[in-house]
Amino acid sequence: MSFEKLAEIIFPEVKYSTEYYIEKYPKRNLKEGAKVTRYAPSPTGFQHIGGVFAALIDERIASQSEGIFYLRIEDTDQKREVEGAIEDTIATMHHFGLDFNEGMTSEDTSKGEYGPYRQSQRAEIYNTFAKDLLIKGLAYPDFCTPKELSELREKQIAQKITPGYYGEYAKFRNITEEEALERIERGEKYILRLKSPGNPENRVEFHDLIKGDISFPENNQDVVLIKGDGLPTYHFAHAIDDYLMRTTDVIRGEEWLSSLPIHVQLFEVLGFELPRYAHIPTIMKQDGGSKRKLSKRKDAEAAVSYYKEVGFPTVTVIEYLLNIVNSTFEEWRAENPTVDYHEFDVQLDKMSKSGALFDLVKLNDVSKDRIAAMKATDVYGNYIAWAKEFDEDMYKLVTANEAMAKEIFNIDKEGPKPRKDFAKWDEVRDKIFYFFDELFDKEAVEQVELPKGLTLDAAKEIIATYKNEFNFNAGSQEAWFEDLKEIGTKLGYCANRKEFKANPDQFKGMISDVAGAVRSAIAHRNNTPDLYTIMQIMGEEKTRSRFEKFLAL
Ligand code: GLU
Repeated sequence: MSFEKLAEIIFPEVKYSTEYYIEKYPKRNLKEGAKVTRYAPSPTGFQHIGGVFAALIDERIASQSEGIFYLRIEDTDQKREVEGAIEDTIATMHHFGLDFNEGMTSEDTSKGEYGPYRQSQRAEIYNTFAKDLLIKGLAYPDFCTPKELSELREKQIAQKITPGYYGEYAKFRNITEEEALERIERGEKYILRLKSPGNPENRVEFHDLIKGDISFPENNQDVVLIKGDGLPTYHFAHAIDDYLMRTTDVIRGEEWLSSLPIHVQLFEVLGFELPRYAHIPTIMKQDGGSKRKLSKRKDAEAAVSYYKEVGFPTVTVIEYLLNIVNSTFEEWRAENPTVDYHEFDVQLDKMSKSGALFDLVKLNDVSKDRIAAMKATDVYGNYIAWAKEFDEDMYKLVTANEAMAKEIFNIDKEGPKPRKDFAKWDEVRDKIFYFFDELFDKEAVEQVELPKGLTLDAAKEIIATYKNEFNFNAGSQEAWFEDLKEIGTKLGYCANRKEFKANPDQFKGMISDVAGAVRSAIAHRNNTPDLYTIMQIMGEEKTRSRFEKFLAL
Protein backbone atom coordinates (compact mmCIF):
# COMPACT_ATOMS: atom_id res chain seq x y z
CA MET A 1 0.00 0.00 0.00
CA SER A 2 1.27 3.43 -0.85
CA PHE A 3 0.18 6.60 0.83
CA GLU A 4 1.33 9.27 -1.62
CA LYS A 5 -1.61 11.59 -1.13
CA LEU A 6 -1.70 11.03 2.61
CA ALA A 7 2.01 11.75 2.81
CA GLU A 8 1.44 15.04 1.05
CA ILE A 9 -1.40 15.99 3.42
CA ILE A 10 0.55 15.06 6.54
CA PHE A 11 3.85 16.60 5.48
CA PRO A 12 3.04 19.44 3.08
CA GLU A 13 6.10 21.43 4.13
CA VAL A 14 8.73 18.78 3.30
CA LYS A 15 10.74 20.24 0.44
CA TYR A 16 13.64 17.87 -0.01
CA SER A 17 14.07 14.22 -0.80
CA THR A 18 15.80 11.81 1.54
CA GLU A 19 18.69 11.68 -0.95
CA TYR A 20 19.20 15.39 -0.47
CA TYR A 21 20.06 14.85 3.19
CA ILE A 22 22.05 11.71 2.56
CA GLU A 23 24.25 13.67 0.16
CA LYS A 24 24.35 16.75 2.35
CA TYR A 25 25.89 14.74 5.19
CA PRO A 26 28.44 12.47 3.53
CA LYS A 27 30.69 10.06 5.37
CA ARG A 28 33.47 12.00 6.98
CA ASN A 29 36.84 12.02 5.35
CA LEU A 30 38.78 10.44 8.17
CA LYS A 31 41.70 8.11 8.26
CA GLU A 32 41.05 4.40 8.08
CA GLY A 33 39.70 3.04 11.35
CA ALA A 34 38.79 6.46 12.76
CA LYS A 35 35.65 6.29 14.86
CA VAL A 36 32.84 8.77 15.15
CA THR A 37 31.13 8.71 18.54
CA ARG A 38 28.66 10.94 20.27
CA TYR A 39 27.43 11.87 23.69
CA ALA A 40 23.70 12.32 23.38
CA PRO A 41 22.12 13.43 26.63
CA SER A 42 18.55 14.53 27.13
CA PRO A 43 18.56 17.90 28.91
CA THR A 44 16.27 16.65 31.66
CA GLY A 45 18.44 17.34 34.68
CA PHE A 46 21.92 17.96 35.94
CA GLN A 47 24.74 15.66 35.07
CA HIS A 48 24.97 12.22 36.67
CA ILE A 49 28.37 10.56 37.08
CA GLY A 50 27.06 7.91 34.66
CA GLY A 51 26.99 10.62 32.00
CA VAL A 52 30.65 11.40 32.54
CA PHE A 53 31.36 7.68 32.42
CA ALA A 54 29.62 7.31 29.05
CA ALA A 55 31.13 10.48 27.63
CA LEU A 56 34.61 9.41 28.76
CA ILE A 57 34.31 6.15 26.86
CA ASP A 58 32.99 7.95 23.78
CA GLU A 59 35.73 10.52 23.92
CA ARG A 60 38.51 7.97 24.41
CA ILE A 61 37.29 5.73 21.59
CA ALA A 62 37.07 8.67 19.20
CA SER A 63 40.36 10.30 20.22
CA GLN A 64 42.33 7.07 20.27
CA SER A 65 41.35 6.43 16.68
CA GLU A 66 41.77 10.08 15.62
CA GLY A 67 38.05 10.25 14.97
CA ILE A 68 35.30 12.64 15.98
CA PHE A 69 33.46 12.99 19.27
CA TYR A 70 30.39 15.16 19.13
CA LEU A 71 27.59 16.41 21.35
CA ARG A 72 23.99 15.94 20.32
CA ILE A 73 21.16 17.22 22.48
CA GLU A 74 18.19 14.88 22.55
CA ASP A 75 15.38 17.18 23.52
CA THR A 76 12.39 15.56 21.92
CA ASP A 77 10.67 15.17 25.26
CA GLN A 78 10.09 18.83 25.81
CA LYS A 79 7.93 18.41 28.90
CA ARG A 80 10.88 17.03 30.81
CA GLU A 81 13.36 19.67 29.78
CA VAL A 82 15.20 21.42 32.61
CA GLU A 83 16.45 24.93 32.12
CA GLY A 84 20.20 25.26 32.13
CA ALA A 85 20.79 21.55 31.57
CA ILE A 86 22.53 22.02 28.21
CA GLU A 87 24.96 24.58 29.56
CA ASP A 88 25.55 22.34 32.57
CA THR A 89 26.36 19.39 30.31
CA ILE A 90 28.85 21.39 28.28
CA ALA A 91 30.49 22.93 31.35
CA THR A 92 30.69 19.56 33.11
CA MET A 93 32.29 17.81 30.19
CA HIS A 94 34.77 20.61 29.76
CA HIS A 95 35.57 20.47 33.48
CA PHE A 96 36.47 16.80 33.10
CA GLY A 97 38.61 17.46 30.05
CA LEU A 98 36.08 15.89 27.71
CA ASP A 99 35.87 18.37 24.88
CA PHE A 100 33.79 17.86 21.79
CA ASN A 101 35.09 18.15 18.24
CA GLU A 102 31.62 18.93 17.00
CA GLY A 103 28.09 19.61 18.12
CA MET A 104 26.36 22.00 20.47
CA THR A 105 28.69 24.57 21.98
CA SER A 106 26.01 26.34 24.05
CA GLU A 107 22.26 26.42 24.37
CA ASP A 108 21.97 27.93 20.90
CA THR A 109 25.30 27.64 19.14
CA SER A 110 27.07 24.72 17.57
CA LYS A 111 30.05 23.83 15.42
CA GLY A 112 30.38 21.25 12.69
CA GLU A 113 28.86 20.40 9.34
CA TYR A 114 26.44 17.71 10.46
CA GLY A 115 23.95 19.82 12.37
CA PRO A 116 21.56 20.90 13.63
CA TYR A 117 22.83 19.00 16.66
CA ARG A 118 19.71 19.60 18.67
CA GLN A 119 16.87 17.25 17.91
CA SER A 120 14.12 19.81 18.37
CA GLN A 121 15.66 21.70 15.43
CA ARG A 122 15.69 18.70 13.12
CA ALA A 123 11.94 18.27 12.57
CA GLU A 124 12.29 18.94 8.85
CA ILE A 125 14.78 16.08 8.51
CA TYR A 126 12.72 13.58 10.50
CA ASN A 127 9.62 14.54 8.55
CA THR A 128 11.39 13.97 5.25
CA PHE A 129 12.24 10.39 6.20
CA ALA A 130 8.85 9.76 7.78
CA LYS A 131 7.16 10.97 4.62
CA ASP A 132 9.30 8.65 2.57
CA LEU A 133 8.32 5.68 4.74
CA LEU A 134 4.66 6.62 4.38
CA ILE A 135 4.95 6.78 0.62
CA LYS A 136 6.57 3.39 0.61
CA GLY A 137 3.84 1.90 2.79
CA LEU A 138 6.31 1.28 5.63
CA ALA A 139 4.57 3.64 8.01
CA TYR A 140 0.97 4.55 8.77
CA PRO A 141 -1.05 6.92 10.95
CA ASP A 142 -2.57 5.48 14.09
CA PHE A 143 -5.71 7.19 15.37
CA CYS A 144 -6.05 5.26 18.64
CA THR A 145 -6.69 7.38 21.70
CA PRO A 146 -4.42 6.97 24.73
CA LYS A 147 -7.39 5.32 26.44
CA GLU A 148 -7.77 2.74 23.70
CA LEU A 149 -4.08 1.96 23.88
CA SER A 150 -4.08 1.44 27.61
CA GLU A 151 -7.17 -0.74 27.37
CA LEU A 152 -5.46 -2.86 24.74
CA ARG A 153 -2.48 -3.22 27.01
CA GLU A 154 -4.55 -4.27 30.00
CA LYS A 155 -6.40 -6.82 27.92
CA GLN A 156 -3.15 -8.29 26.62
CA ILE A 157 -1.66 -8.50 30.08
CA ALA A 158 -4.81 -10.18 31.41
CA GLN A 159 -4.60 -12.71 28.58
CA LYS A 160 -0.88 -13.20 29.18
CA ILE A 161 0.13 -12.24 25.68
CA THR A 162 2.95 -9.91 24.74
CA PRO A 163 1.62 -6.41 25.24
CA GLY A 164 1.97 -3.79 22.55
CA TYR A 165 0.74 -2.53 19.24
CA TYR A 166 1.58 -5.14 16.68
CA GLY A 167 0.14 -7.60 14.17
CA GLU A 168 -3.53 -8.29 14.76
CA TYR A 169 -3.61 -5.89 17.73
CA ALA A 170 -2.49 -2.96 15.61
CA LYS A 171 -5.91 -1.54 14.85
CA PHE A 172 -4.83 0.85 12.10
CA ARG A 173 -2.06 -1.24 10.58
CA ASN A 174 -4.10 -1.87 7.48
CA ILE A 175 -5.95 1.42 7.31
CA THR A 176 -6.78 2.58 3.79
CA GLU A 177 -5.61 5.90 2.47
CA GLU A 178 -9.23 7.04 2.13
CA GLU A 179 -10.07 6.30 5.75
CA ALA A 180 -6.92 7.99 6.98
CA LEU A 181 -7.65 11.09 4.90
CA GLU A 182 -11.21 11.22 6.19
CA ARG A 183 -10.15 10.95 9.79
CA ILE A 184 -7.56 13.66 9.36
CA GLU A 185 -10.12 15.88 7.73
CA ARG A 186 -12.38 15.36 10.72
CA GLY A 187 -9.58 16.64 12.88
CA GLU A 188 -8.80 13.35 14.62
CA LYS A 189 -5.46 13.18 16.38
CA TYR A 190 -2.90 10.64 15.26
CA ILE A 191 0.66 9.49 15.57
CA LEU A 192 2.85 7.87 12.98
CA ARG A 193 3.90 4.25 13.38
CA LEU A 194 6.28 1.93 11.65
CA LYS A 195 4.60 -0.93 9.82
CA SER A 196 6.98 -3.48 11.19
CA PRO A 197 7.99 -6.15 8.71
CA GLY A 198 9.41 -8.33 11.50
CA ASN A 199 8.51 -11.81 12.58
CA PRO A 200 9.47 -12.71 16.16
CA GLU A 201 10.04 -16.29 15.09
CA ASN A 202 13.15 -15.18 13.27
CA ARG A 203 16.20 -14.47 15.32
CA VAL A 204 18.74 -11.75 14.71
CA GLU A 205 22.38 -12.41 15.47
CA PHE A 206 24.25 -9.41 16.71
CA HIS A 207 27.68 -8.48 17.97
CA ASP A 208 27.86 -5.84 20.65
CA LEU A 209 31.33 -4.39 21.28
CA ILE A 210 30.94 -4.83 25.03
CA LYS A 211 28.32 -7.53 25.50
CA GLY A 212 29.75 -9.75 22.77
CA ASP A 213 27.56 -12.00 20.61
CA ILE A 214 23.89 -11.73 21.34
CA SER A 215 20.79 -12.87 19.53
CA PHE A 216 17.21 -11.70 19.79
CA PRO A 217 13.87 -12.21 18.05
CA GLU A 218 13.01 -9.82 15.26
CA ASN A 219 10.90 -6.86 16.28
CA ASN A 220 7.26 -6.96 15.29
CA GLN A 221 6.00 -3.98 17.29
CA ASP A 222 4.68 -1.12 15.20
CA VAL A 223 6.70 1.40 17.16
CA VAL A 224 5.88 5.08 17.13
CA LEU A 225 8.04 7.14 14.79
CA ILE A 226 6.49 10.57 15.17
CA LYS A 227 4.55 11.50 18.29
CA GLY A 228 1.40 13.57 18.57
CA ASP A 229 3.49 16.70 19.15
CA GLY A 230 5.16 16.23 15.78
CA LEU A 231 8.51 15.25 17.27
CA PRO A 232 10.18 11.87 16.72
CA THR A 233 10.54 9.14 19.30
CA TYR A 234 13.99 8.21 20.56
CA HIS A 235 14.02 5.21 18.21
CA PHE A 236 13.34 7.14 15.05
CA ALA A 237 15.58 10.06 15.92
CA HIS A 238 18.39 7.67 16.84
CA ALA A 239 18.27 5.97 13.45
CA ILE A 240 18.07 9.18 11.45
CA ASP A 241 20.61 11.13 13.49
CA ASP A 242 23.24 8.50 13.96
CA TYR A 243 23.07 7.70 10.27
CA LEU A 244 23.13 11.26 8.99
CA MET A 245 25.72 12.37 11.52
CA ARG A 246 27.72 9.36 10.41
CA THR A 247 28.27 7.89 13.83
CA THR A 248 30.33 4.76 13.43
CA ASP A 249 30.06 3.54 17.02
CA VAL A 250 26.96 4.08 19.10
CA ILE A 251 28.12 3.83 22.70
CA ARG A 252 25.22 4.17 25.12
CA GLY A 253 23.72 2.83 28.34
CA GLU A 254 22.66 -0.79 28.50
CA GLU A 255 19.09 0.30 29.20
CA TRP A 256 18.84 0.65 25.42
CA LEU A 257 19.86 -2.92 24.72
CA SER A 258 16.28 -4.13 24.84
CA SER A 259 15.36 -1.63 22.12
CA LEU A 260 18.11 -2.85 19.83
CA PRO A 261 15.76 -5.11 17.80
CA ILE A 262 13.73 -2.02 16.96
CA HIS A 263 16.80 -0.08 15.97
CA VAL A 264 18.28 -2.81 13.82
CA GLN A 265 14.96 -3.00 12.00
CA LEU A 266 14.62 0.75 11.60
CA PHE A 267 18.06 1.02 10.03
CA GLU A 268 17.13 -1.73 7.64
CA VAL A 269 13.76 -0.25 6.71
CA LEU A 270 15.39 3.12 6.15
CA GLY A 271 18.10 1.55 4.02
CA PHE A 272 20.86 2.74 6.33
CA GLU A 273 24.08 0.95 7.11
CA LEU A 274 24.01 -0.15 10.74
CA PRO A 275 26.62 1.41 13.06
CA ARG A 276 28.55 -0.66 15.58
CA TYR A 277 27.02 -0.65 19.05
CA ALA A 278 28.50 -0.83 22.53
CA HIS A 279 26.12 -1.01 25.48
CA ILE A 280 27.76 0.23 28.66
CA PRO A 281 26.88 -1.43 31.96
CA THR A 282 25.02 0.74 34.43
CA ILE A 283 27.02 2.18 37.32
CA MET A 284 26.03 0.29 40.46
CA LYS A 285 26.72 0.74 44.14
CA GLN A 286 27.14 -1.86 46.84
CA ASP A 287 24.38 -1.30 49.38
CA GLY A 288 24.66 -3.74 52.24
CA GLY A 289 24.50 -7.21 50.75
CA SER A 290 23.15 -6.18 47.38
CA LYS A 291 23.94 -3.95 44.44
CA ARG A 292 21.74 -1.20 43.17
CA LYS A 293 21.85 1.62 40.66
CA LEU A 294 23.68 4.71 41.81
CA SER A 295 20.79 7.04 42.42
CA LYS A 296 20.66 10.81 42.22
CA ARG A 297 18.12 10.83 45.00
CA LYS A 298 19.98 8.64 47.48
CA ASP A 299 23.66 9.05 46.72
CA ALA A 300 25.52 12.34 46.89
CA GLU A 301 28.23 10.86 44.68
CA ALA A 302 25.77 10.33 41.84
CA ALA A 303 25.73 14.04 41.07
CA VAL A 304 28.75 15.33 39.23
CA SER A 305 28.67 18.52 41.32
CA TYR A 306 29.67 16.44 44.36
CA TYR A 307 33.17 15.76 43.02
CA LYS A 308 33.74 19.41 42.37
CA GLU A 309 32.44 20.54 45.72
CA VAL A 310 34.47 18.15 47.87
CA GLY A 311 37.43 18.68 45.58
CA PHE A 312 38.35 15.45 43.91
CA PRO A 313 40.77 16.49 41.18
CA THR A 314 39.09 15.86 37.84
CA VAL A 315 41.95 13.65 36.72
CA THR A 316 41.33 11.44 39.73
CA VAL A 317 37.69 10.95 38.90
CA ILE A 318 38.54 10.23 35.29
CA GLU A 319 41.22 7.72 36.26
CA TYR A 320 38.86 6.04 38.67
CA LEU A 321 36.27 5.74 35.92
CA LEU A 322 38.96 4.32 33.63
CA ASN A 323 39.54 1.67 36.29
CA ILE A 324 35.91 0.70 35.91
CA VAL A 325 36.09 0.75 32.11
CA ASN A 326 39.14 -1.50 31.99
CA SER A 327 40.39 -3.23 35.10
CA THR A 328 43.83 -3.36 33.45
CA PHE A 329 44.12 0.38 33.99
CA GLU A 330 45.31 -0.11 37.57
CA GLU A 331 48.22 -2.26 36.51
CA TRP A 332 49.07 0.11 33.68
CA ARG A 333 49.04 3.02 36.10
CA ALA A 334 51.34 1.19 38.53
CA GLU A 335 53.78 0.52 35.70
CA ASN A 336 53.52 4.04 34.32
CA PRO A 337 53.09 6.25 37.36
CA THR A 338 53.78 9.55 35.64
CA VAL A 339 52.32 8.98 32.18
CA ASP A 340 49.21 10.94 31.17
CA TYR A 341 46.06 8.79 31.25
CA HIS A 342 45.39 9.66 27.60
CA GLU A 343 48.18 7.22 26.75
CA PHE A 344 46.19 4.30 28.13
CA ASP A 345 44.46 2.32 25.41
CA VAL A 346 40.77 1.84 26.27
CA GLN A 347 39.41 -1.44 24.94
CA LEU A 348 35.69 -2.01 24.91
CA ASP A 349 35.92 -5.78 24.61
CA LYS A 350 37.80 -5.89 27.91
CA MET A 351 35.04 -4.14 29.77
CA SER A 352 33.02 -6.00 32.35
CA LYS A 353 29.76 -7.16 30.77
CA SER A 354 27.74 -6.95 33.94
CA GLY A 355 27.56 -4.13 36.43
CA ALA A 356 30.16 -1.43 36.83
CA LEU A 357 30.63 -1.11 40.56
CA PHE A 358 31.26 2.36 41.88
CA ASP A 359 33.16 2.44 45.15
CA LEU A 360 33.97 5.68 46.95
CA VAL A 361 36.64 4.03 49.10
CA LYS A 362 38.48 2.94 46.00
CA LEU A 363 38.06 6.39 44.48
CA ASN A 364 39.69 7.83 47.60
CA ASP A 365 42.65 5.48 47.20
CA VAL A 366 43.06 6.30 43.54
CA SER A 367 42.82 9.97 44.34
CA LYS A 368 45.44 9.81 47.10
CA ASP A 369 47.79 8.09 44.69
CA ARG A 370 47.20 10.65 41.96
CA ILE A 371 47.68 13.63 44.26
CA ALA A 372 50.78 12.02 45.73
CA ALA A 373 52.18 11.66 42.22
CA MET A 374 51.49 15.32 41.36
CA LYS A 375 54.22 17.90 41.58
CA ALA A 376 53.86 20.29 44.52
CA THR A 377 53.26 23.20 42.16
CA ASP A 378 50.41 21.30 40.55
CA VAL A 379 48.95 20.45 43.93
CA TYR A 380 49.15 24.14 44.73
CA GLY A 381 47.51 25.17 41.46
CA ASN A 382 44.73 22.63 41.76
CA TYR A 383 44.14 23.44 45.37
CA ILE A 384 43.82 27.18 44.99
CA ALA A 385 41.50 26.71 42.00
CA TRP A 386 39.24 24.66 44.24
CA ALA A 387 39.63 26.88 47.32
CA LYS A 388 38.81 30.00 45.37
CA GLU A 389 35.33 28.63 44.89
CA PHE A 390 34.78 26.56 48.01
CA ASP A 391 37.01 27.82 50.86
CA GLU A 392 37.72 31.49 50.62
CA ASP A 393 39.71 31.71 53.88
CA MET A 394 42.10 29.04 52.74
CA TYR A 395 42.35 30.61 49.31
CA LYS A 396 43.46 33.88 50.84
CA LEU A 397 45.88 32.29 53.29
CA VAL A 398 47.46 29.93 50.82
CA THR A 399 47.87 32.44 48.02
CA ALA A 400 49.24 35.04 50.45
CA ASN A 401 51.85 32.46 51.49
CA GLU A 402 52.51 30.85 48.14
CA ALA A 403 56.13 29.88 48.72
CA MET A 404 55.35 28.32 52.08
CA ALA A 405 52.31 26.52 50.71
CA LYS A 406 54.37 24.98 47.93
CA GLU A 407 56.91 23.78 50.48
CA ILE A 408 54.10 22.28 52.54
CA PHE A 409 52.73 20.45 49.51
CA ASN A 410 56.23 19.24 48.77
CA ILE A 411 56.80 17.51 52.13
CA ASP A 412 58.06 13.98 51.53
CA LYS A 413 57.14 14.11 47.89
CA GLU A 414 60.41 13.44 46.25
CA GLY A 415 61.25 10.04 47.74
CA PRO A 416 60.22 6.69 46.32
CA LYS A 417 57.17 6.62 48.60
CA PRO A 418 55.56 10.04 48.46
CA ARG A 419 53.16 10.96 51.25
CA LYS A 420 49.51 10.26 50.59
CA ASP A 421 47.90 13.00 52.60
CA PHE A 422 44.87 14.05 50.65
CA ALA A 423 42.21 12.35 48.60
CA LYS A 424 40.29 15.55 47.99
CA TRP A 425 40.84 19.24 48.47
CA ASP A 426 38.38 19.66 51.32
CA GLU A 427 40.79 17.61 53.46
CA VAL A 428 43.68 20.00 53.02
CA ARG A 429 42.55 22.60 55.55
CA ASP A 430 42.54 20.18 58.49
CA LYS A 431 45.91 18.79 57.56
CA ILE A 432 47.83 22.01 57.08
CA PHE A 433 45.95 24.58 59.16
CA TYR A 434 48.67 24.76 61.80
CA PHE A 435 51.11 26.39 59.42
CA PHE A 436 48.92 29.48 59.49
CA ASP A 437 48.76 31.52 62.70
CA GLU A 438 45.40 32.88 61.60
CA LEU A 439 43.89 29.39 61.96
CA PHE A 440 46.19 27.96 64.60
CA ASP A 441 45.55 30.75 67.08
CA LYS A 442 41.82 30.12 66.94
CA GLU A 443 42.18 26.64 68.42
CA ALA A 444 40.76 26.11 71.89
CA VAL A 445 42.82 24.16 74.41
CA GLU A 446 40.39 21.22 74.12
CA GLN A 447 41.37 20.83 70.48
CA VAL A 448 45.03 20.33 71.31
CA GLU A 449 46.02 16.70 70.92
CA LEU A 450 48.66 15.38 73.34
CA PRO A 451 50.70 12.20 73.04
CA LYS A 452 48.96 9.31 74.75
CA GLY A 453 49.79 9.16 78.44
CA LEU A 454 51.20 12.68 78.69
CA THR A 455 49.36 15.41 80.58
CA LEU A 456 49.32 19.00 79.41
CA ASP A 457 51.46 19.94 82.41
CA ALA A 458 54.03 17.27 81.64
CA ALA A 459 54.09 18.41 78.00
CA LYS A 460 54.57 22.01 79.11
CA GLU A 461 57.42 20.99 81.35
CA ILE A 462 59.16 19.41 78.35
CA ILE A 463 58.58 22.47 76.18
CA ALA A 464 59.79 24.86 78.90
CA THR A 465 63.20 23.20 78.73
CA TYR A 466 63.20 22.27 75.08
CA LYS A 467 62.57 25.82 73.85
CA ASN A 468 65.72 27.03 75.59
CA GLU A 469 67.99 24.16 74.68
CA PHE A 470 67.02 23.01 71.20
CA ASN A 471 69.10 23.86 68.20
CA PHE A 472 66.96 25.18 65.38
CA ASN A 473 69.84 24.98 62.96
CA ALA A 474 70.70 21.35 63.60
CA GLY A 475 71.39 20.96 59.89
CA SER A 476 69.68 17.65 59.30
CA GLN A 477 66.77 15.61 60.51
CA GLU A 478 69.15 13.14 62.15
CA ALA A 479 71.14 15.82 63.98
CA TRP A 480 67.94 17.48 65.06
CA PHE A 481 66.65 14.24 66.50
CA GLU A 482 69.94 13.55 68.32
CA ASP A 483 69.56 16.96 69.87
CA LEU A 484 66.00 16.22 70.95
CA LYS A 485 67.09 12.87 72.38
CA GLU A 486 69.76 14.51 74.45
CA ILE A 487 67.36 17.08 75.88
CA GLY A 488 64.77 14.39 76.56
CA THR A 489 67.25 12.11 78.29
CA LYS A 490 68.34 14.92 80.55
CA LEU A 491 64.68 15.51 81.44
CA GLY A 492 64.32 11.86 82.46
CA TYR A 493 62.85 10.30 79.30
CA CYS A 494 64.27 7.06 77.98
CA ALA A 495 65.80 6.76 74.54
CA ASN A 496 65.73 2.98 74.41
CA ARG A 497 62.54 0.95 74.28
CA LYS A 498 64.02 -2.19 75.84
CA GLU A 499 65.56 -0.29 78.65
CA PHE A 500 62.29 1.51 79.29
CA LYS A 501 60.31 -1.73 79.29
CA ALA A 502 62.72 -3.28 81.77
CA ASN A 503 62.45 -0.40 84.25
CA PRO A 504 59.50 1.82 83.41
CA ASP A 505 59.46 3.37 86.88
CA GLN A 506 62.86 4.88 86.44
CA PHE A 507 61.71 7.13 83.59
CA LYS A 508 59.09 9.79 82.97
CA GLY A 509 58.41 8.23 79.63
CA MET A 510 60.02 7.64 76.26
CA ILE A 511 61.73 10.01 73.87
CA SER A 512 58.67 9.59 71.62
CA ASP A 513 56.75 11.46 74.35
CA VAL A 514 59.20 14.33 74.07
CA ALA A 515 58.82 14.45 70.30
CA GLY A 516 55.05 14.20 70.83
CA ALA A 517 55.05 17.21 73.15
CA VAL A 518 56.99 19.23 70.60
CA ARG A 519 54.51 18.11 67.93
CA SER A 520 51.58 19.20 70.08
CA ALA A 521 53.15 22.58 70.66
CA ILE A 522 53.94 23.13 66.99
CA ALA A 523 50.84 21.67 65.38
CA HIS A 524 48.29 20.76 68.08
CA ARG A 525 48.05 17.37 66.41
CA ASN A 526 49.51 13.91 67.04
CA ASN A 527 49.75 13.06 63.40
CA THR A 528 51.85 15.23 61.17
CA PRO A 529 54.65 14.83 58.68
CA ASP A 530 58.23 14.97 59.92
CA LEU A 531 58.61 17.60 62.64
CA TYR A 532 62.01 18.81 61.62
CA THR A 533 60.70 19.54 58.13
CA ILE A 534 57.68 21.36 59.55
CA MET A 535 59.91 23.53 61.72
CA GLN A 536 62.14 24.36 58.79
CA ILE A 537 59.14 25.43 56.73
CA MET A 538 57.74 27.53 59.58
CA GLY A 539 61.06 29.17 60.28
CA GLU A 540 62.69 29.83 63.61
CA GLU A 541 60.56 32.74 64.68
CA LYS A 542 57.25 31.00 64.21
CA THR A 543 58.59 27.81 65.80
CA ARG A 544 59.69 29.68 68.88
CA SER A 545 56.43 31.57 69.10
CA ARG A 546 54.59 28.24 69.06
CA PHE A 547 56.47 27.15 72.17
CA GLU A 548 55.51 30.36 73.95
CA LYS A 549 51.89 29.96 72.95
CA PHE A 550 51.90 26.41 74.22
CA LEU A 551 53.24 27.42 77.60
CA ALA A 552 50.51 30.05 77.84
CA LEU A 553 47.70 27.53 77.23
N1 GLU B 1 19.15 10.67 25.04
C1 GLU B 1 19.43 9.32 25.40
C2 GLU B 1 19.59 9.26 26.91
O1 GLU B 1 19.88 10.27 27.51
C3 GLU B 1 20.73 8.94 24.76
C4 GLU B 1 20.94 7.52 24.53
C5 GLU B 1 21.99 7.37 23.48
O2 GLU B 1 23.16 7.66 23.76
O3 GLU B 1 21.65 6.98 22.37
O4 GLU B 1 19.40 8.24 27.48
